[in-house]
Amino acid sequence: MKVLVCVKRVVDYNVRIRVKPDGGGVVTDGVKMAMNPFDEIAVEEALRMREAGHVSEVVAVTIGDKKSQEQLRTALAMGADRAIWVEHEEAIQPLGVARVLKALAEREQPGLVLLGKQAIDDDCGQTAQMLAALWQRPQATYASEVVISGETVRVTREVDAGLEVIDVDLPAVISTDLRLNEPRYVKLPDIMKAKRKPMDSYTLPDLGVELPPLVERLETTPPPARTGGFKVESVEELVATLKEKGLV
Ligand code: AMP
Repeated sequence: MKVLVCVKRVVDYNVRIRVKPDGGGVVTDGVKMAMNPFDEIAVEEALRMREAGHVSEVVAVTIGDKKSQEQLRTALAMGADRAIWVEHEEAIQPLGVARVLKALAEREQPGLVLLGKQAIDDDCGQTAQMLAALWQRPQATYASEVVISGETVRVTREVDAGLEVIDVDLPAVISTDLRLNEPRYVKLPDIMKAKRKPMDSYTLPDLGVELPPLVERLETTPPPARTGGFKVESVEELVATLKEKGLV
């Protein structure tokens, strides 16, 4: 079985986000970029499936500008077998990504498509669900455990009420939650090896996908500055302060 793993290039989670002075988005020039953390978990899970003998090929996919190839190389260095780069310069919304992934799923015929539960740049958390709907395959989102057995996969999902266990038929779409695994570190020799691994590239017309813009971003503004906090000396003072502020 082949697994498609989606990786998105985002601003590194350690970076303090700054809004452009003209409100036209966030500053990315000269800023450290990285693979979306939930996608790293997805790559790790796909590799573990291959190591356990359930999967024969792990294919990393990204849709983005030329620089997004760096994140594909990271996935290859982690151990993915090959990569697919879909060239697209402009920002892309979840429905657009889902359309591209559906076109790739039809070409590649994977048994599983693994995505992160959300990309930490826009925090949409929509792509996996939209892909499952377009591809007309079952979905299991927010996975904290995935066990493949034959033609089905048992997924433990992190939901508001606790954990939910569901069985879905393959091919399926799974999105990863934080506790699914801890991604491996990439070693230097693997980075060198990754340079020789195959990377196919497509344009949107190659895949027969059109992406009319559906969402218009009007302005990006930073959150209001927080007013400073203060320490209380006792429980009594805490309770009095909360009462004074009308919070209890
Ligand atoms: P989102 O719905 O935007 O929060 O993204 C959820 C997941 O979809 C991400 O964690 C990625 O696995 C995948 N994804 C979103 N955008 C892209 C992209 N441009 N290229 C590859 N995968 C993506």
